Amino acid sequence: MFRRPILVSLCCAILAGLLLAPQCHAARRWGYVDRFTPDRWHLADPDYALCKSGTRQSPIDVSPTATADLPPLVLDYPKPGNVVINEGIDVRVRFPEGDVMVVDGNRYRLRQVHFHVPAENRLAGKSFPMEAHFLHLDEQGKLVVLAVLLEEGTPNDRFAALLDAVPAKPGQRRTLAKGFDPAAILPGSTDYATFMGSLTTPPCTEGVRWYVLTTPVQIGKRELAKHGRIVSHPTNRPLQPHNGREILGGK
Ligand SMILES: [Zn+2]
Repeated sequence: MFRRPILVSLCCAILAGLLLAPQCHAARRWGYVDRFTPDRWHLADPDYALCKSGTRQSPIDVSPTATADLPPLVLDYPKPGNVVINEGIDVRVRFPEGDVMVVDGNRYRLRQVHFHVPAENRLAGKSFPMEAHFLHLDEQGKLVVLAVLLEEGTPNDRFAALLDAVPAKPGQRRTLAKGFDPAAILPGSTDYATFMGSLTTPPCTEGVRWYVLTTPVQIGKRELAKHGRIVSHPTNRPLQPHNGREILGGK
């Protein structure tokens, strides 16, 4: 059932940074500035229709509608990221096999981490300067995103070193000799809010489970400036309506 445009879109949105990133980069028909701003994504390709017609879209203002005894979120990431890619629209880090997130007995393999500036999701109305998306897949190929909000504060040397390693030109990648430990951009607490949403990029596929950590991580002003020299325009999709969605927060 997959027609080629869907494959191209999916590889960009989900798998970029794994195998096909340069090809995806060449084929991309969406962005954040000029012709294909987020409000026009649905016009760029019929396969992006959900970006306009979807009812459970991301990002959102994460304000829990209910609290619950949420299962702990276990982040077991022993393998550092080994490749960093300048995707033009974002910076991505690719991870080898061996890193998993475990929630309620379900295991999700970490595939890549990328960044949005400013942050896409908000926390109870509060906006942040940057957001990291940890993309995971389960064995059935179901996508689960762990989101971490980054705020300006104490300099973060390990994150700065990652940004220093990003190749200058879009479409280029670099092997990370020392690797990138995702702990550099994870808070001490894994308390979270969870809800169903979508990819925040075309094709805006729904059915994505989101876990948004409610404790932000600090990065320095210089890291924000470094990122701005790599990706010089905003890379956030505007907030989407809740449409009565349940957003569960911890008790
Ligand atoms: Zn993202």
